[in-house]
Amino acid sequence: MTLKDLKTAIDKCYKEHSKEIEHLVHTIHDNPELSEEEELACRLQTEFLEGLGFHVTRNYKGLKTAFAASAGEGSPHICFMSEYDALADMGHGCGHNLIAGVALSAGIILKQLIRDFHLKGRVTIMGTPAEEKRGCKIDLIAAGALEDVDIVLMAHPSDHPTSQSMEASGIMQFIIRFTGKAAHAAASPEKGLNALDAVRLLFSGVDAWRQQLPETCRIHGVIKDGGKAPNIIPDATTADFYLRAFDMDFLLSMKKRLENIAQGAALMTDTTVVVEVVKNAYKPGKPNQELNQEFMRLAEEYGMAPEWLERSRASSDFGDVTYEVPAMHAFFNITGQNKDIVIHSREFADCAASSFALEQMGKTARILSKIGHLYLTCEDFRKKVMDAHG
Ligand SMILES: [Zn+2]
Repeated sequence: MTLKDLKTAIDKCYKEHSKEIEHLVHTIHDNPELSEEEELACRLQTEFLEGLGFHVTRNYKGLKTAFAASAGEGSPHICFMSEYDALADMGHGCGHNLIAGVALSAGIILKQLIRDFHLKGRVTIMGTPAEEKRGCKIDLIAAGALEDVDIVLMAHPSDHPTSQSMEASGIMQFIIRFTGKAAHAAASPEKGLNALDAVRLLFSGVDAWRQQLPETCRIHGVIKDGGKAPNIIPDATTADFYLRAFDMDFLLSMKKRLENIAQGAALMTDTTVVVEVVKNAYKPGKPNQELNQEFMRLAEEYGMAPEWLERSRASSDFGDVTYEVPAMHAFFNITGQNKDIVIHSREFADCAASSFALEQMGKTARILSKIGHLYLTCEDFRKKVMDAHG
């Protein structure tokens, strides 16, 4: 088969299914579901894939809104990851509906190439819930979901130019709870212990620390519960914090410092504090340069004007995937020339349903299916990808 035949087969297959895929992507967009509540998105994808002859496992590895849809046999085994959770109050402000569109399209194309050209190997579309919150990829890895997978490919919509998989920050999440003592704020404040003061001092301590941190680190917090009414001394307050760094050891040292600051705030206010580490810290992302180079070459060919970008300060549970197998988390631009639209905003959510976004999604899916095809058919490429994984 010539390269031209391959391109024609891929374009034809995408065209055959693009209307249904676009409809599915729009439906997920218009019915946003939060992390681990993605029941409609999961049902739509599994029913669609089952209808196309994929072998579908629902409730994958015991996760209610995870799935695996496979076709073909043996190895190599290519996995395309789908995400489909939305953000509170802004719908698909991260555009995960389009990640689902890329994964499904690429998987459907590769399944057809395996069948039509009698290729040896397997393709799986893996539905991975809760990227925005708890990071179910980490649960899936722990349950053995990647044990017989050779490579994982995924692509995320972006407000930056189309680009390769980047080194990404690791992240740890915390819930910090202070307990004081309630009292009437006017009649007997001297009998209270103010848990809101503890939160305020926690934020002051973090702000003082910030100046001494390397530029690449990030700390951000919100007060989830700051008390109930001004005339009651708050006896219970909660703040959520995220810490990010490119180095896992440094991230662990940041954890220790945050715990110390929280203890200090409790001491100063005579309150008590509990620092809860939310399960599933995300590891920093480790890109595979062979997969990246192939993506960038093809993105150029598809007229997506790709640019090699520096590392990303954002974090994803895909970081953990990159330590398991060679993996790529590429980015495709959906905001065009508009530089004012940023990811995690309502405007980005609007973009995630635009015809430009769907066009970019279609190109990206075809690129990912091509990389999957190359991995199935070229031993030299497989070796290079494995060597780059280290
Ligand atoms: Zn995202």
